[in-house]
Amino acid sequence: MAIKVLTEHINVPGIETFDVYRKQGGYTAVEKALKTMTPDEVVEEVKKSGVRGRGGAGFPMGMKWSFLAKPEGVPRYLVCNADESEPGTFKDHYLMKTIPHLLIEGMIVSSFALGANKSFIYVRGELMYVIHILEKAIAEAKAAGFLGKNILGSGYDLELVVQPGGGAYICGEETALLESLEGKRGNPRNKPPFPAVKGLYQCPTVVNNVESIATTSWIVNHGGDAYAAIGIGRSTGTKLISASGHINKPGVYEIELGLPVEDFIYADEWCGGIRPGHKLKAVVAGGSSVPILPANLILKLGNGDKRLMSYESLSEGGFQTGTMLGSGGFIVFDETACIVRNTWNFSRFYHHESCGQCSPCREGTGWMEKVLHRIEYGHGNQHDIDLLVDVARRIEGNTICPLGDAAAWPVASAIRHFRDEFEWHITNPHEATQPGAVFKGDMALV
Ligand code: SF4
Repeated sequence: MAIKVLTEHINVPGIETFDVYRKQGGYTAVEKALKTMTPDEVVEEVKKSGVRGRGGAGFPMGMKWSFLAKPEGVPRYLVCNADESEPGTFKDHYLMKTIPHLLIEGMIVSSFALGANKSFIYVRGELMYVIHILEKAIAEAKAAGFLGKNILGSGYDLELVVQPGGGAYICGEETALLESLEGKRGNPRNKPPFPAVKGLYQCPTVVNNVESIATTSWIVNHGGDAYAAIGIGRSTGTKLISASGHINKPGVYEIELGLPVEDFIYADEWCGGIRPGHKLKAVVAGGSSVPILPANLILKLGNGDKRLMSYESLSEGGFQTGTMLGSGGFIVFDETACIVRNTWNFSRFYHHESCGQCSPCREGTGWMEKVLHRIEYGHGNQHDIDLLVDVARRIEGNTICPLGDAAAWPVASAIRHFRDEFEWHITNPHEATQPGAVFKGDMALV
C-alpha cells in the first residue's frame, strides 16, 4: 500500500471540520512543535526531509527557509501561494476544499519555524467557496486555541489571514503575488532583492505553495529523515498529481516519487489507462508550461529504462528528450488530440496572462498566438514554423519572470516533437480545417 502523507484521511466523513480532523491526529504537529521544539529545530527537520517546493519550481523548501533574513525589530511573513492557476493543475484546490485543516496546521507549524506572527493564504479569487471553507477552518482552530495569542500557552502568537486574489495567472509568481497582496497591480518584481530579504511590505518573507506547507505537519510528526526515506534520490516524499485528459480515471492522486510513468498512466490504482479504443499520443507532465513529450519519450528514457515520476527522471535528456515535473499537472492526449490546436490554445492563454512589463513576453506571446492561429486555420506558410521557433528562442531566458519561459517552452517542444503535424496543417489546409480533422502521420502511439 502506497504511503500517504497528505491524503491518508481525506475520505474520512467530516474531515473538513476541526473535531473530525483532530480525532484523526490533527494538530499534533502544532503541539509537538510549539511545546517541544525550537523554531530552528523545525527548520532543521524540513531541511533534512529534502522536500522541494511543490508549486512548480522544485526548489528545496528547507534551503528557502534558511535564506530568510532575520533583522531585529522587523516582522517576517509567511505567505501561502494558493493562487493555483496553471492549466492542468487542480491539486491545491482539492486539498483546500477537502481537508482545509491540513493547510491551517501546516501554516501554524511553518509560521512558528520562520518566526512569523502574521501569515497570509492568497487564494485565487474564483475559488470563493474555498475561501469560505478556509475562513471557517481558521475560526474553528482559533476557538480551540491553535491560533491567536499565546497558542497552547507557548507564548507564540499567530494571526492567519485569507486574501482573495483577482484571478490573474501572473499572481502565482511570488513577487507579483506580494505586489497584489499589498494592494497593487500584480506585476512581478525585478530580482534581487528576493522576498527572503525584501518581500511583503519590504520585510523578509517566505512564499510557499499549499502542498509544500501542508507537508510540514507530517515532517514534524515523523521527522525529516522519515520523509527523506520516501521517494527516490533527491525527489523525496510524495507528490500530488492532477491527472486529466484522455484517461479512464482523471483526478488528484498522491504518488510516491519514483513511480514509473507507465504505471501511473496504465495501472488501475492511478489513471486506469487510455480511454477504450484509443492510444497514447503525448503527455504534458507538469502543467501547461512544461515541454510536451510524445508517447515513446514520456514512457522510456534514451537507454530504454522506464521514465519515472521524479524531478530528475522527467528532466532526463534536457529539453531535447525530457520535460519537467513542474506543478504535477499531468495532461494526457490520445491520437484524437490536435497538437497544433492545443499549442495555439496554450499560447492564447499566455498571451492573455502576460503582464506586459517586458517586450519579449508582451510582444512575443502575441506573435506566437497569431502565427499559431493562422497555421491552425489553414493560412500558414512553411516559414511560420521556423518563425515560431525563433520567437520562442528570443523570449526564453530574456524576461523578468518565468512566464516568458512558460510561454516559449510549449511552442518550442511541440514543434520539436510534432513538426510533421504542423507541416501537414500548412500543406493540407483544406483537410486540416475540417471539423474534427486530426493528423494521422507516422507517429509513435502506445
Ligand atoms: Fe510580465 Fe511576461 Fe515579463 Fe513576466 S515575463 S514580467 S508576465 S511581461
